[in-house]
Amino acid sequence: MKRKILIVGGGFAGLWAALGAARVIDMEREAGSDVEITLVSPYPELHVRPRLYEVRPEQMAAPFLPLLDAVNVNFIEGTVERIHSADHCVDVTTAAGETKSVNYDRLVLTSGSRLFRPPLPGLAEHAFAVDQLDDAVKLRKHLESLASKPDTAARNTFVVVGGGFTGLEAATELPAHLRPILGENVRPRIIIVERADAIAPDLGAGPLQAVSEALDHLGIETRVGAGVVSVDAGGVVTATGERIDANTVIWTGGMVASGLTAQVSPNVDRQGRMEVTGDLRVSGAKDIFGAGDVVRALTDDEEHYSLMSCQHALFMGRFAGHNVAADLLGIPTIEYRQPFYATCLDLGAWGAVYTEGWDRQVKLTHAEGKVRKQLINTQWIYPPAPDREQALAAGNPHISYE
Ligand SMILES: Cc1cc2nc3c(=O)[nH]c(=O)nc-3n(C[C@H](O)[C@H](O)[C@H](O)COP(=O)(O)OP(=O)(O)OC[C@H]3O[C@@H](n4cnc5c(N)ncnc54)[C@H](O)[C@@H]3O)c2cc1C
Repeated sequence: MKRKILIVGGGFAGLWAALGAARVIDMEREAGSDVEITLVSPYPELHVRPRLYEVRPEQMAAPFLPLLDAVNVNFIEGTVERIHSADHCVDVTTAAGETKSVNYDRLVLTSGSRLFRPPLPGLAEHAFAVDQLDDAVKLRKHLESLASKPDTAARNTFVVVGGGFTGLEAATELPAHLRPILGENVRPRIIIVERADAIAPDLGAGPLQAVSEALDHLGIETRVGAGVVSVDAGGVVTATGERIDANTVIWTGGMVASGLTAQVSPNVDRQGRMEVTGDLRVSGAKDIFGAGDVVRALTDDEEHYSLMSCQHALFMGRFAGHNVAADLLGIPTIEYRQPFYATCLDLGAWGAVYTEGWDRQVKLTHAEGKVRKQLINTQWIYPPAPDREQALAAGNPHISYE
């Protein structure tokens, strides 16, 4: 009988976990000859979430079936509804709408995160988002539809709720969306509304200077210290009682981990992320590993924990994939370590700001920052070619981008 590794989620963590596990099985060919790896996800493509604020969101999907074939990983197109850890099986609803039970010996949970949408009046009905591919495509279609609407202040006003990373990238990219739609003569009014007392409160002093320069350059307004309390078809109201008439409201209010985490671990943080041991095993669930946005993992020896970010998901995926296969074969697992931390924030036509270190030291700005952002967004975060050797090499947890 085959021994089975099941990976739940085909995002950054899941896809790279598949490569990491396949690499170990390839290296341990004899011992691993009876091991079968399967990935289950709702669609056979990687949705490149970090690019969903860009002008062509419908193009931000990378099909991965040929890649999985190249490394002998099976695929089930479906959604995991329940994880029965005591019975080592999951309930899957397939794309055809059938429900089936899938067994595993070891599981890797990488079902990612979703935008946090609090129960604010009108939010669910009227606010757009750039969180998932379908959200971003819906927003893009709405923006295109504005061309045929009367030229009013509300049509030309765009409220972005949340001044964190996603809000800043969405707001600063809006002029590039809108120029071809509204024409050169319309100057869109873009307003970021941030509940905290400053834009990008978590960003640190270094990049903030670049952010404020970019917002000035692009003519983007900000409202800080008061959140949005309601949304309707014609705009928003903030906590100060200010009404802003706008036909477009984009909500970027933070992310929460997939609800599957609560099924396997009672130890979840504020964002629903599971606690894991050094080798990315879910605390208290010995046959389940986790990676990406569903876990909070120690990245270094200085108490820095992973963030809901693609750079952490990619590396944790490799380590979790390596470890799940090693554990099944009875060889030692390895500690997840990723001490290098960088951020690259796109700031539209101004450029981008690239920082290194947890204290976010600015290394590149303007056009130079943009070149780095494009390298990250078009190469580093994409899956390798469906060539067995390259694919297995990409699953190496100790890979270097140098
Ligand atoms: C607009 C935007 C900009 C961003 N910019 C950056 C950036 O500049 N840098 C950065 O590092 N990060 C960025 N991020 C964050 C980054 O996209 C996430 O941290 C990353 O996608 C996490 O990877 P993941 O594999 O853990 O989860 P995801 O990418 O969310 O993938 C989860 C996968 O699991 C699947 N899944 C979910 N539920 C189930 C289920 N029940 N059964 C089966 N499959 C399931 C999903 O369909 C998906 O395939 C950005 C995010 C957004 C939205």
